Amino acid sequence: MYDFGLRQALSGYRIAYRPQETNHCPGCGNSHWMIGRLTAECAFCGTALPLIGGGASGNGAMHPRTVSALAA
Ligand SMILES: [Zn+2]
Repeated sequence: MYDFGLRQALSGYRIAYRPQETNHCPGCGNSHWMIGRLTAECAFCGTALPLIGGGASGNGAMHPRTVSALAA
């Protein structure tokens, strides 16, 4: 997602919501989530986790970037 100069392979485990896996809340242990565009929030206790691939969904995510016709 964002590169703040940190290398995830060197910075240890980072807790995050992984859409392809069963995610248990680190706060209460339940696994019901409200998924947003950048975070997932536990439906029981409100713990919010960043999405591991955050920012790659939503409107415009699947459209190729093209140069605007007005730029020519
Ligand atoms: Zn929870």
